[in-house]
Amino acid sequence: MSTTSLISSLFRAEIQSMSAYKVADAHGFIKLDAMENPYHWPPELTEQWLTSLRHCELNRYPDPEAQRLIETLRCHDEIPKSVAILLGNGSDELIQLLLMALTPTQAVLAPAPSFVMYKQISQSLQLTYFAPSLCAEDFSLDVAHILQLIKQHQPALIFIAYPNNPTGNLFKAEDIHTILNASTGLVVIDEAYAPFANASFLPELPRYKNLLIMRTLSKLGLAGLRLGYLMGAVEIISQLNKIRLPYNINVLTQMTAEFALSHKQVFTEQTQLICQHRHWVFEQLQALPALTVFPSAANFILFKTPAQHADRIHAHLKKQGVLIKNMHSQGGLMQECLRVTIGTQEENKAFINALTNALITIN
Ligand SMILES: *Cc1c(COP(=O)(O)O)cnc(C)c1O
Repeated sequence: MSTTSLISSLFRAEIQSMSAYKVADAHGFIKLDAMENPYHWPPELTEQWLTSLRHCELNRYPDPEAQRLIETLRCHDEIPKSVAILLGNGSDELIQLLLMALTPTQAVLAPAPSFVMYKQISQSLQLTYFAPSLCAEDFSLDVAHILQLIKQHQPALIFIAYPNNPTGNLFKAEDIHTILNASTGLVVIDEAYAPFANASFLPELPRYKNLLIMRTLSKLGLAGLRLGYLMGAVEIISQLNKIRLPYNINVLTQMTAEFALSHKQVFTEQTQLICQHRHWVFEQLQALPALTVFPSAANFILFKTPAQHADRIHAHLKKQGVLIKNMHSQGGLMQECLRVTIGTQEENKAFINALTNALITIN
């Protein structure tokens, strides 16, 4: 039997027709495409961290429950004792875990555009996926449409990114409450960008049995560690915990995350700086002709270029050594849209200069 026929007889059709999640090669570029925190730690903190790693026993399996880390997170985010916490190898793994727990006949709903992994993983698991479009004017939730889909298909899981990626806006809290009340399934509020947004549904957890909150350390400044966490009712989290791989959070991640979170001040200062620079980048973008710039509560900004410009501007920026994210190929509301992550002020200036050049050259 040839490998091709082996694959087609063994693997699900959904997987065969999928394409792998591609990440652009950023080598040598000013990297403003992936919502990373651009700052490093003060050298003395790095020294302290390296010292702490000396006690790390790499020959032993990690604590399967990562109890100390969970307590550190509880303290860091002020998560009440009554709320259960599940850790994932990035929140990507938690999205996968949630979806893996469903039966394949069930449906999943997330507005479009939103975080690509919701759809990618749902489809790989043969789940039906509904993607009602956000409103074109302001990227708000089309509540009437969502309520209609809930009534018709009763999705087992609804994902709402708050703030939303790639649009950067916070949805109206009132709209999310309406969805929480109408949903017969679970509603996951994905707060990946919580460090930059002055808003959270965490205080609402006791009010809704079907609410789960998901966060990650990635956008805070620890993307390389891969640590996400899901919070919600003990009964729900303990079901999901059954399908978690026993040692999904490795020892280096456990130790480093505990260490990092006990130096909260460093991250608070960095995220505040990023928010200040977000304001600067927003104003600079708005001052450029012919761009529509969307307000953001996250560490990136989405903007729309004139017709037939996005691909050319993106390529031109790349030629100048600046890598941002081209959203145009996603189609729909993302046509002619580009997304830039807030970097150091030096990187932000380089980006604005490169973009100014690109606009002059192309026009
Ligand atoms: C970046 C991002 C994630 C993924 O975070 P990881 O913890 O790095 O896997 C999840 N949700 C949203 C909305 C994101 O933008």
